[in-house]
Amino acid sequence: MTMRQQYASDNYAAICPEAWEAMQEANVGSAVSYGMDDWTTRASDALRKAFECDADVYFVFNGTAANSLALASLCRSYQSILAADMAHIETDECGAPEFFSNGAKILTIPTEGGKLTAEAIRRMARMRTDIHFPRPAVVTITQPTETGLLYSLDEIRGISAVCRELGLKLHMDGARFVNALAALDCSPADMTWRAGVDVLCCGGTKGGMAVGEAVIFFDRTLSDGFDFRCKQAGQLASKMRFLAAPWVGVLRDGGWIAHARHANGAAQRLHEALKDVPHVRPVFPVQANALFLDMPSEMTAALRERGWVFYEFIGGAARFMFAWDADYAQVDRLARDIAECARDYRQDAR
Ligand SMILES: *Cc1c(COP(=O)(O)O)cnc(C)c1O
Repeated sequence: MTMRQQYASDNYAAICPEAWEAMQEANVGSAVSYGMDDWTTRASDALRKAFECDADVYFVFNGTAANSLALASLCRSYQSILAADMAHIETDECGAPEFFSNGAKILTIPTEGGKLTAEAIRRMARMRTDIHFPRPAVVTITQPTETGLLYSLDEIRGISAVCRELGLKLHMDGARFVNALAALDCSPADMTWRAGVDVLCCGGTKGGMAVGEAVIFFDRTLSDGFDFRCKQAGQLASKMRFLAAPWVGVLRDGGWIAHARHANGAAQRLHEALKDVPHVRPVFPVQANALFLDMPSEMTAALRERGWVFYEFIGGAARFMFAWDADYAQVDRLARDIAECARDYRQDAR
């Protein structure tokens, strides 16, 4: 049974062909378990090559684990994690970062649309230094943000400069890292370690895999014990080759980036198609694979009646999030339906 293509989330999408084919290639004979196999070595090497860096690479099942375990290794239990108020680690991980760090506190910084600034980080980090307050140890930024905004390379460099100045580590939640790569058209290295990022949680699932994220430590001194952390948290896959192989698949011919470009293109396409439609307003600039639309509740109800599925959990706007498989004809149908709902709304209002 298949449902019609929806854009409620990029994890509604199926597995992209490159990931699927690599899993099929890996699905032959025996392989050593727990990551000591050739596929895991190949995938780690492929990521090191893509990032032009001799990083430590780990594969875990999902983004919550990747973020939580990475952050736990960057701070102690009495320290704090500086994050945007809209950060996934704060709003959508059920306290996992606090849990896995044994109580480190997330300090949220108010933002317009989820983007931190160097200034705001400095202010928050310096606010208190007394013994009654959890000492800031790490800053996390989401690239692109939960709202589909991008940090420019300059902005990342500015944030990492403040982090270095204040002795903070810099973590990047890259659940949609590849969409940022495609949008900024820069190298993975430039967006991460060359800009001062210490650890990246690099999304696989939303980029087209069945399951799995890569945790990449550019500063290898920070990964001490991370393998044990993964095991303890139930994140060490015994048949690791199947978490690893998709990375080999998506990285070998640039399929990963191409798919992200396609997904970003769908967001742009819907955005363009709605430019002259009344009563619908994009809430955030469209920079990656997301489009957030503000419209009257009568219109969202009418859209749902037409069978469209979407969430409004971020700031009340209707979110449309596109994946590698976005069918542009279906995106056009959505645009048409939104335009028709706007027309009906106007007639009702008269
Ligand atoms: C989807 C997502 C994650 C990971 O979520 P899981 O469901 O745990 O895989 C992490 N960060 C952001 C910003 C996300 O959108």
